[in-house]
Amino acid sequence: MKKKRILSGMRPTGRLHLGNLHGALQNWVDIQNTGTYDCFYFVADWHALTSDYKDTGLIKSYSLDMVVDWLSVGLDPVKSTLFIQSAIKEHAELFLILSMITPLSWLERNPTYKEMQEELSDKDIGTFGFLGYPVLQAADIIMYKAYGVPVGVDQLPHVELTREIARRFNFLYTDIFPIPEPLLAHVPKLMGLDGRKMSKSYENTIYLRDRGEVLREKVVSMFTDPQRMRRTDPGRPDVCNAFPFHAIYSSPSEVSEIADACRAANIGCVECKKLLAERVADGMAPMHERQDYYLGHLDDVREIIADGVRKASKIARLTMEQVREAVKI
Ligand code: SF4
Repeated sequence: MKKKRILSGMRPTGRLHLGNLHGALQNWVDIQNTGTYDCFYFVADWHALTSDYKDTGLIKSYSLDMVVDWLSVGLDPVKSTLFIQSAIKEHAELFLILSMITPLSWLERNPTYKEMQEELSDKDIGTFGFLGYPVLQAADIIMYKAYGVPVGVDQLPHVELTREIARRFNFLYTDIFPIPEPLLAHVPKLMGLDGRKMSKSYENTIYLRDRGEVLREKVVSMFTDPQRMRRTDPGRPDVCNAFPFHAIYSSPSEVSEIADACRAANIGCVECKKLLAERVADGMAPMHERQDYYLGHLDDVREIIADGVRKASKIARLTMEQVREAVKI
């Protein structure tokens, strides 16, 4: 039986961090490992231009680095197709056609538009490309006639917009695009070291490449329960920034022991975070081993990408033949 296709992408704007891993990548790997879906994951390098158009020098190396990290966390090129968006020019052609039929008001009311403008306030993103990035996303998704798009709750409006655009194309021309479903994942809420959203621009991240003393120092510097001023004050794991990391990296029995000890002031935050640093380092060790392997075999990584591009290209070419016929261009 033909497997349902899943598609998702990520912008290569810098090193990946634990927020990326637990907010998206782990879900990609889990979906891949169900064996139920035909998974397509792509490096959204044209999307990186929406915010980084002034300084493009690192996008190529970030793209390769990103695939190294994807492989390190468990994406498997035998099970998933990994490719780079800009290698498949059909994305740009479909984006152009969809731009013609997407009402401006749909883009202006996109709730993440304002949010991203605030988050990227150090960059001038008052551009046509930035306003129109959901249209490029729609092109990325419907190009492969994806059944589903793995997303977090905050990205739901984007998938809804893609669904609207696909419906409009089908209505105006020919019914060729399935309407993609959002596949909501349970995503643990992991914040940055300082309690804000984990983001490179806030310099509060733990990178997937961090290890040794750097990793340890970062974990030990995490903000904890702000009301716990003294070692003798009972703590509140439910508001502590470090506790969700324990929930991922420590064993269930240890997690419940820590929660009890914290509430009873039987453990200090420094001790708790030192233990956490060990657990995080142990948890990341297999990934670091794979990173070392792929960093020493970058030609293999390039070949994996080239294979993915070949496979994705075939589908994109077929879709665009149908699109051109439908639009009569
Ligand atoms: S003891 Fe641990 S869980 Fe409790 S507030 Fe401190 S760091 Fe957080």
